[in-house]
Parts: sequence; C-alpha cells; structure tokens
Amino acid sequence: MTLPVDQFGENSEIAADLMQALAREELDFRLQPIVAAETGQIQGVELLLRWSRAGTEVGPDRFIPLAEASGCIVDIGYWVFEQACRVAVQLQEQFGEQTPYVALNLSSRQLDEADLAERLQQIMTSYGVRPERLLLEITESSLMTNLSQTRDMLAQLEALGLRLAVDDFGTGYSSLAQLVRLRPHTLKIDREFISGLNHCPESQQVVAAISRMARSLRLQVVAEGVETAEERGVVRAMGCGLIQGFLFHRPLSLADFLTLYGQVRAPAPQGLDFLIYISRAAVSPDAAMLQAILQPARAFNLSQGLSGFLFYFDNIFIQYLEGEGQVLERLYQSIQGDPRHWDVQEMARGQIDQRLFAGWEMGFQTLEGRLLRTQLGLADADQDYHQLLQKNPALCCSLFEAISQTSL
Ligand code: C2E
Ligand code: MG
Ligand code: MG
Repeated sequence: MTLPVDQFGENSEIAADLMQALAREELDFRLQPIVAAETGQIQGVELLLRWSRAGTEVGPDRFIPLAEASGCIVDIGYWVFEQACRVAVQLQEQFGEQTPYVALNLSSRQLDEADLAERLQQIMTSYGVRPERLLLEITESSLMTNLSQTRDMLAQLEALGLRLAVDDFGTGYSSLAQLVRLRPHTLKIDREFISGLNHCPESQQVVAAISRMARSLRLQVVAEGVETAEERGVVRAMGCGLIQGFLFHRPLSLADFLTLYGQVRAPAPQGLDFLIYISRAAVSPDAAMLQAILQPARAFNLSQGLSGFLFYFDNIFIQYLEGEGQVLERLYQSIQGDPRHWDVQEMARGQIDQRLFAGWEMGFQTLEGRLLRTQLGLADADQDYHQLLQKNPALCCSLFEAISQTSL
C-alpha cells in the first residue's frame, strides 16, 4: 500500500483524527467469508477494518498507511486482534467446534513491537480462544522487509500456535527459499492475478505455478477477488482450494454474517466428481487433428472448472474428467452425441475428495498399443482394445492414477 497524496494537508488531518478514532469508538469491522472452491461452503472469514469518520466511511486502503506512518496501527492492531478473538468465541458458542476460522491482517509495523507475542497471548487467554481458530495475514512485501527480525517474531507467534498467511502473494518478490523457511500455513494469491484470469494466459500460468508449488509444500491456497463464475472455474481447475471474492460474498457486518452462516452451514452436497469413458475415433486422427481437438477442449474445460487427462492409442480415446457433477454430465452427454466419437462407454464414475489433475485443463499422451498389450501379458495380436478395456475398468483407473503421479 502506498501513502495517498497529501492534498491541502488532508492526510495530516485524517492522521490526527485517526489517533482519536479508537477512543471515540469510530472503528468497526466487516467479515468477508472465505469458501471452499469446489463446494462454496464457508471455511473461514477475514476481518476487515472500517472507520466511520464524521459519519463517512473511510476505507482501509486510505487510512491504514496513515496509521502505519503515525504508529497508531499498533494500538489499532491490538483492538483488531481482540475483535477477532471475540468473533471466534461467538462463532464457537453459537455453532460449536466446526466453525470457520477467523483471519485478520497484521501490519509489518506491529511486528516491530518486542512484546507483540506476549500481548497476543494475553488477549487470547482473556477471551479463551484457541490459537488455531485464528490466522494472521501478513502481506508478502512486509514479510520481506527486515527479514531476519521478522522471522524471529514469526517464530514467537508460531510458538503460540498461531498460523500465518502470506497476503497479496505474487506481488512482493519473495524468493522460494525464504518462503520455504517461513513455512506459512496459507498463501493468498493477489487479486491482480485473479481479475480477468480467464482471458489472460500469463495470469493462468502464475496461478497454476503457485498452486502446484503450494500443493507440494502442503500449503493452503486462497484465490482473492474472484468476481465471476469464469474466474471461479479457472481457479478451481488450477487447484486453488479456497476462494474469497464478491462472486460468493461481500464483506458483511457481524450480525449479517451470523444470520448467513446460520442458514448455510449445513454441509453442501459434495462438489467434486470424476468420470472415465472410452470411445473409438470415428476418423483416425493425425497429430494436427489431435491438437485441433485438444485446444478448444482445454479452453472449455478451464472455463467450466474441469480438469483431466486424455490418452489416445490405436484409434481409441480414454479420458478422465473431474469437476462439478452437473457440468461433467453435460459434457459427457455432448461427447456421446459427438460424431467424432463412436462406441462411447462409461468406465467409472464417482466422487472424489481431491483432484488428480489439478492445474491440468487436459493433459494428453499418446500410448503405444503394443506396450499396453505387453504390460497386460496379452498374446492375441488381433484383440480389440476397446473391448479389452471395457472389461477392465480397474485398469483404466490405475492408468490415470499412474500418470497423475508421474506428471505432477
Ligand atoms: P486484503 O487483506 O488483501 O483484503 C482483501 C481486500 O479485497 C478487502 O478490501 C476486500 O473487501 C477486497 N475484496 C475481496 N474480494 C473482492 C472482490 O471480489 N473484488 C474486489 N474488487 N475486492 C475484493 P478492503 O476491506 O478495502 O481492505 C483493503 C486492505 O486493507 C486489505 O487488503 C488489508 O491489506 C488492509 N486492511 C484491512 N483491514 C485491516 C486491518 O485490520 N489491519 C491491517 N493492518 N490492514 C487491514
Ligand atoms: Mg488480508
Ligand atoms: Mg490480499
């Protein structure tokens, strides 16, 4: 965040008023739900600060830089932490153990306070909050300033059991080595990469790379600022587990959030299905034809939140698709009616917890039919693979399991 231009001393006036804002009880907050990308179920909330100055709401982008510059962010930060504890307790009292976590923003200026960990511990104790109910969000750029001091403070916070999220990830030039050393719990991909993602191959590459890296480091990924169904489709297919954005929910008052959560907290139906089918190619395709099939299929899958893998060999297609059940079903029906596919046979279908091919709008490989035959110990050179595979759904499943292990 940059300090806004000080026109006619306006910023100094705002800064002076801000110092009083806490005492005058002008600060408030909103809660923005964070949902599971696949099901839309609420998993967490982010607490976002609001300031009502002389009856007009001033946004945090405007006043947080002033609060940081004047140092009053430290006291405001403790107030914010108390509110987060209050919300966490209220959620637990009202809804029991399985309630959303509460994320809150911490400014880098707060990390300079030598007794920060001690104060946060006191506040948690006085509210009776377990640290794992909270998530501290620190922007990537603040993490990278004064790194060694920051690391010591983060280690103290971690020792309290608090979890850390890197906010606005992708904008702050952190090196992978630093990221691995900090071992945050969550990465929040900045809105800059999410906005218009479905039309921007470069952003898609960035989001895919971040979510693959996060998966291998076992970090959670939140896509920030998802506003359209198309953007949701892409981030789902890329394997981002969580979404925060206006498509689902805007920041809400505490009362509105409690009402909403009371209505929607019942588990939504599982949102992730898979399907495997085999078919014969109506016309034996050459490499150019295969590309002509794959290109639009990939674009379509990306927009629909589908991922998967396609094998082609000896005039046979065998495809694995994963995504939302109804979307999969619509696609499968259109494949059944597609004149390029003959003898379309469903081989397996069901629900899964996790994607096998997150980040793969459609992987592709040609197989040598002969190799498969050898693997299966088959002697009969004239055997029809289509028939053979039909009798072997388990073989189809293990083909995709194997390729997902080697490709990711
Ligand atoms: P942030 O932590 O990255 O918070 C997300 C911001 O993105 C919020 O703006 C939220 O309203 C906005 N947002 C979420 N989904 C969408 C979307 O789909 N479209 C668009 N256009 N915006 C979306 P907000 O509330 O104005 O906060 C701005 C920033 O102010 C925050 O960015 C955070 O850096 C800072 N901030 C907010 N509260 C606090 C606080 O308590 N302490 C500190 N230090 N900083 C805070
Ligand atoms: Mg944040
Ligand atoms: Mg952010």
